[in-house]
Amino acid sequence: MKLKTKLSLGLSFLFAIIVAFGSLGFYYISKLSSDAANVLMNNQESLVYCNDMLKALEDIPGKKEAVAIFDNNLKKQEANITEPGEKESTQQLRKDFTELTINPSDSSNYPQLRQSLQRITDLNQNAILRKNEIAQKTSIDAKFWLTIIFTLLIIVSLTFIYNFPAIISGPVTKLSEGIREIANKNYKQRIYLEQKDEFGDLANAFNSMAEKLDEYEHSNLAKIKFEKSRIETIINQMKDGIIGLDEKKHILFVNAVSQKILGLKESEIVGKYAADVALHNDLMRTLLQEDSNKELKIYADEKESFFNKESINVIANNEIIGKVIVLRNITPYHELNEAKTNFLATVSHELKTPIASIKLSLQLLDNKKTGEVNIDQQQLLDSIKDDTNRLLKITGELLNITQVDSGKIQLSIVASDAKEILNYAINANRSLAEQKSLQLKIDVPEQQTKVLADNEKTAWVLTNLLSNAIRYSHENASIFASIHLTDKKIHFIVRDTGQGIAPQYKDKIFDRYFRIPGSHKEGTGLGLAISKEFIEAQGGQILVESDYGVGSTFEVVLNAV
Ligand code: ADP
Repeated sequence: MKLKTKLSLGLSFLFAIIVAFGSLGFYYISKLSSDAANVLMNNQESLVYCNDMLKALEDIPGKKEAVAIFDNNLKKQEANITEPGEKESTQQLRKDFTELTINPSDSSNYPQLRQSLQRITDLNQNAILRKNEIAQKTSIDAKFWLTIIFTLLIIVSLTFIYNFPAIISGPVTKLSEGIREIANKNYKQRIYLEQKDEFGDLANAFNSMAEKLDEYEHSNLAKIKFEKSRIETIINQMKDGIIGLDEKKHILFVNAVSQKILGLKESEIVGKYAADVALHNDLMRTLLQEDSNKELKIYADEKESFFNKESINVIANNEIIGKVIVLRNITPYHELNEAKTNFLATVSHELKTPIASIKLSLQLLDNKKTGEVNIDQQQLLDSIKDDTNRLLKITGELLNITQVDSGKIQLSIVASDAKEILNYAINANRSLAEQKSLQLKIDVPEQQTKVLADNEKTAWVLTNLLSNAIRYSHENASIFASIHLTDKKIHFIVRDTGQGIAPQYKDKIFDRYFRIPGSHKEGTGLGLAISKEFIEAQGGQILVESDYGVGSTFEVVLNAV
């Protein structure tokens, strides 16, 4: 039965009972009131008439109008005959009264008149008593039936009150439990309701929805599983090491390369807290460090291998939900780079000897003893000399960069006189400065300036800085070279008033092979890169300040003795 029908029936039943109760009450109240009215009308009035007639009878001998009163009341009585026997008594009364009216002074039938009046009075009094009994009975009946119906109404109402909420709340509770389970992704949940009402329909609809969701979940799960194994296969096939972590740093997966590099089996890593693994594995500890991109030298594949560590955060809905560490194997690039460095070292080393020999030959040609040269020849010789010097500078720089590249900068740090180192660099650049009519202004302190440095490399750096200052200065300008002493530091400063360096290139000039676009002067772009490596290898610092179009200041800071 439909819920709507159930509700309608229940409410109709209640309505019927209320109507029945009301009708019965109304019926008994009306009955009681009509009984009372009847008693009043039928009997009580007859008693009043009889009483009035009795009084008038006493007055008839003396009072004329008493006859009229008697007659009037008798007429009323004749119109109000209600009880059996009352009619006969009234007729007798009329007969006796008629005789009395013929001869009012004859009082012989007074006793008869009184008797008739008494009989009518008795009849009505008895009727009142009897009717009173009937009214009593009616009231008892009313009480009885109303009590029964009231009790029935109470029982039905209580049953209704007790059962009705359960009819609604039972299925609603089951449905809401079911919905909660579905929300928790328990698609196996079903709701069983026997009833064939709207709740039954709802439960059926719920069950078919859960079934569809279950099917969808399973088909999706299969797809996800397939995708997962596909991705796992790809990850495992990769030449790079890959480690996946969740947001709480538990290891989700490690591919074959990572397992090999870490020297751990999959079962020893997957599902573990990364920090726990790091306790017994140095490499894992390094990998977990926050610096995201880092080059690592690892012994793998039975040789020294190089990996570039890259940490990638996995982000979903603007939240970091995990991290993937990629160990890119850059060993082949390292090997190629090494080959290039070796090649450069060999070539520049091999070139140095013939160039030095050319330089020597040029010096001999310069010597008057070798013979006089004419002006044209002298110009050619000067040009060859310049090119040779340039070649020597380039091969020297290439040789230095190979040292840096191979990580084989050989230092011999000793306590040296900073002024001597600076003088060496100045002397090496003097003729270059003279060619451009530049003034070299030197400012060094009186006191001792002992520095902890590799003499040769520091002199090379200062020579390079001065030669840059000369090359990038306008003719007739001044170059300032100075030494400052601060707390435990020696500062070599080379300042020029040349073209300066645009701000966007300030950090780039120390990169290898970088030359500011539009720099027409010849050069390799290696000088400052080598200088930085040489100074930092000594624990020092090289800094630059420049005002574009005004000039540049380079500063080398090394430890004082
Ligand atoms: P290069 O052999 O080209 O001089 P460097 O490494 O010594 O190589 O310098 C890199 C670049 O920095 C140069 O090409 C030049 O553009 C710029 N640079 C270096 N020193 C100065 C300077 N004193 N004034 C202006 N530019 C400079």
